[in-house]
Amino acid sequence: MMGCGCNDCEEMMQPYLDGVLTDEQVREAKGHLERCPPCDKRFRFELHLRHFVRVAVDEDMPPGLRQKLSSLRST
Ligand SMILES: [Zn+2]
Repeated sequence: MMGCGCNDCEEMMQPYLDGVLTDEQVREAKGHLERCPPCDKRFRFELHLRHFVRVAVDEDMPPGLRQKLSSLRST
């Protein structure tokens, strides 16, 4: 953890990345990221990470393995 000191960012970061926040929550999250460079940096990092994971999953992974991974993740 990079320790910017705020609890809000931890709570909103993952749902924000998952795209499950409401419009209002997204606005709050964006506002927070603008005021909080450590969170902004972390958010960008996580975003890239997810992007690459998603690309790798979409392009390189056989469907059987993908299914196996997603079932592992949900248990
Ligand atoms: Zn923060």
